[in-house]
Amino acid sequence: MTAVQILYIVAFALFVYGLMGLTGPRTAVRGNWIAAAGMGVAVIATLMIPGMGNWWLILLGLAIGAAVGVPSARRVKMTAMPQMVALFNGVGGGAVALIAWVEFRQSDGFAHEAAYVAVASLFAALVGSVSFWGSLIAFGKLQEILPGRPIGAGRLQQPINLLLLVGGLACGTAIVAGASAELLVIGLLVLSAALGVLVVLPIGGADMPVVISLLNALTGLSAAAMGLALDNTALIVAGMIVGASGTILTNLMAKAMNRSIPAIVAGGFGGGGGPAAEVDGDRTVRRTSAADAAVQMAYANQVIVVPGYGMAVAQAQHAVREMADLLEARGVAVYYAIHPVAGRMPGHMNVLLAEADVPYDRLKEMDEINGEFARTDVAIVIGANDVTNPAARTDPSSPIYGMPILNVDESRSVIVLKRGMATGFAGVDNALYFDPRTAMLFGDAKASVSDVTEELKNL
Ligand code: NAP
Repeated sequence: MTAVQILYIVAFALFVYGLMGLTGPRTAVRGNWIAAAGMGVAVIATLMIPGMGNWWLILLGLAIGAAVGVPSARRVKMTAMPQMVALFNGVGGGAVALIAWVEFRQSDGFAHEAAYVAVASLFAALVGSVSFWGSLIAFGKLQEILPGRPIGAGRLQQPINLLLLVGGLACGTAIVAGASAELLVIGLLVLSAALGVLVVLPIGGADMPVVISLLNALTGLSAAAMGLALDNTALIVAGMIVGASGTILTNLMAKAMNRSIPAIVAGGFGGGGGPAAEVDGDRTVRRTSAADAAVQMAYANQVIVVPGYGMAVAQAQHAVREMADLLEARGVAVYYAIHPVAGRMPGHMNVLLAEADVPYDRLKEMDEINGEFARTDVAIVIGANDVTNPAARTDPSSPIYGMPILNVDESRSVIVLKRGMATGFAGVDNALYFDPRTAMLFGDAKASVSDVTEELKNL
């Protein structure tokens, strides 16, 4: 066994050990470092392979990558994490596609290679290119460089996509059959780039995190295929880990939104809807004040905090923790209801609350907490909207119908903290706000929670 192979095995062990750490918030950061160290070992081992190439160019590439990657990862806000993941993941797919192109050139169109090398490389080029361009569009939508609403060619969309796919496959087949014109591989890359763009454009902003996870899985798959072609076990293992975990995550997210993956890729969901009014026919929302909210919670037996995307935007997690501490000091039981797709990425709320040192046993998953709402005096909804919308249970015409939600409307009283009547990510109105048991505390979540906390101190 060579030194490179031994180092690769060490790297795989570190990947697996690191992944195990990611299963819990307490060990996640350490897990991440361990997996990163594994990747470092894999990179060093790869560079030790004889005839690796031009060292100066490799070092230049590493330096540029680190100079771009490290500061942007350090500076990124938690709310912008999905688009960051999209970008980093997309670059992986793009790199794979470029490597496939280089391999094509260096081997004279795979002239002296086994058929499987050509097939795996071209598959990697196609999928990697789809992933790169699709991820760029996903990034653009989430960063609001592109409109979040679905943009598509309607009925023509699917036939166009199919044509692009067939065109890409035809180029690939011609190369495998022996054609060596470089135009064919360029054609394959261009057609799959167009496919990536056109598949993601019609998908609404609300589904974008699921799409990013799907593209992530595709990048993993393309890397694994390239590993097969290059006979590089590190690439195969790392690619398969990314492919498998991306697929599992995509499934979990789609399930939590009660949507099928084909329905998500078909597009058209979310992104619409503007701010709703405080009056709807004969229904009017009821406003409350920080002082009233404080009194209500101070004399409750049990309060459930329901955090959502707005808590992340306002960065209100520390203020929430302070408010909960005061309530607990008064003997109120405080729990946090965590919806699997609250916020904009899986585990978003857990990460924010862990950052504010909220004891982990206070965080309750949706299935665990839903039975508790009926026994709860006050549910305080902090910047959550879609994940509390009763239309998901009751209105078959609603786009979010069937999505499991937190049953906040079963509590004796609901206080909703948000800035106005704007809709959430799915762009649909929320009947909860017109429920007679609900009172709205309008304003930025951090400011509102701090106001409530001040009132609690004065009680
Ligand atoms: P949401 O439905 O997007 O609603 C967030 C609410 O927060 C908005 O209605 C907004 O209302 C309010 N808000 C924004 N900034 C605020 C601030 N500074 N202070 C107070 N309120 C603020 O959020 P959610 O209930 O967490 O639901 C998540 C949505 O994302 C779901 O539709 C889910 O399907 C989707 N999604 C999540 C994931 C994931 O992995 N987590 C993945 C895919 C999709 P105002 O503007 O009126 O304040």
